[in-house]
Amino acid sequence: MKRLVLLGGGYGGMRILQKLFAQDLPKDVSITLVDRNPYHSLKTEYYALAAGTASDHHIRVQFPSHPNLEVKYGEVSGLDLSENVVHLKDDESLPYDSLVIGLGCEDKYHNVPGAKEHTMSIQTIDASRRTYEVLNNLGAKSVVGIVGGGLSGVELASELHESRPDLEIKLFDRGKTILSAFPDRLGNYVQSWFEERNVTVVSESNITTVEPNILYNHGDPVHCDAIVWTAGIQPNQLVRDLDVEKDAQQRIVLDQHHKIPEQSNVFVVGDCASLPYSPSAQLAEEQAEQIALVLQKEWKQESLPSLPPIKVKGTLGSLGSKHGFGVMANRPLTGRVPRLLKSGILWMYKNHNG
Ligand SMILES: Cc1cc2nc3c(=O)[nH]c(=O)nc-3n(C[C@H](O)[C@H](O)[C@H](O)COP(=O)(O)OP(=O)(O)OC[C@H]3O[C@@H](n4cnc5c(N)ncnc54)[C@H](O)[C@@H]3O)c2cc1C
Repeated sequence: MKRLVLLGGGYGGMRILQKLFAQDLPKDVSITLVDRNPYHSLKTEYYALAAGTASDHHIRVQFPSHPNLEVKYGEVSGLDLSENVVHLKDDESLPYDSLVIGLGCEDKYHNVPGAKEHTMSIQTIDASRRTYEVLNNLGAKSVVGIVGGGLSGVELASELHESRPDLEIKLFDRGKTILSAFPDRLGNYVQSWFEERNVTVVSESNITTVEPNILYNHGDPVHCDAIVWTAGIQPNQLVRDLDVEKDAQQRIVLDQHHKIPEQSNVFVVGDCASLPYSPSAQLAEEQAEQIALVLQKEWKQESLPSLPPIKVKGTLGSLGSKHGFGVMANRPLTGRVPRLLKSGILWMYKNHNG
């Protein structure tokens, strides 16, 4: 049998399985999917889980079933690329012929003292559940500090305002306006949306230290009853620990077929991969389609195609349940339309995968 081991059933891993199962899989191929969770988690919705507007059940999807697929629920603890073996936490080892690493990303704390210890996270489903519990148990008028005014910080602040309008929410961001990765028009629109709803945006902030219930902005203490960190990401620790070439963000540099250059049987998908765009679910899925194609060619012992550049259609963000923002086909969008589009994409995704 040709053994494919797929690490991580996230957006990248799921799309690879979907593409492979859409065509006849060679009978001599066995696939093992490893994930710490017994379901695919919709990470793009973690902000809503944490805010309390989406249920846990709403953001989970079952992994596919297929006669050639074994799903293993376990924690990957080591990658031995020289021996073609993956180690799991319970001492089990999984040998492979081909490997796909799709383990996603983690919070990046930029060496801010206390940030890891004293802030909450929305990077994993279990961390988002803990954040949900803290945020939703706060008393009236409690202060919530959210550090990082990118897509996930903005979505969390707006959703939390909708869920708990009694809370005082402060969104801290380094830039002059939030959403620095988006056109200025969108940043200004979102900033006004927050101002109209008394969500405070603290621009040009610099969080120097975090202590229990205190954020230090430019060294000045700001009391918060709860603090959520959304100020940066980095690839999974297992990927950061690999002795292979990486880019400035610690993502693995790949060849034109999405393989580690010196390991021609190892692919990397999604947030762990160095790609020409910022990490996103959409990017992970587009890349996954190409990886599935390469795997199919390899199994048929056909020559590998030269792959076209990956294209992403755009990014959409929500501001509560009624408004949104985003860029689609290079056009900035604000208001109800991007929100409807985002809900529609989620509905289609769940319908297609569920
Ligand atoms: C709040 C928020 C909102 C976002 N909104 C958007 C959006 O609107 N649009 C968009 O395109 N992107 C969005 N993103 C980014 C998007 O979620 C990621 O880019 C995407 O999930 C990356 O897919 P992936 O397959 O690389 O990893 P993931 O989807 O993160 O999957 C990784 C998988 O690996 C598993 N795993 C990790 N470590 C281990 C281990 N040691 N052992 C076993 N299993 C492990 C995890 O359980 C998970 O299932 C958002 C992210 C966040 C946090």
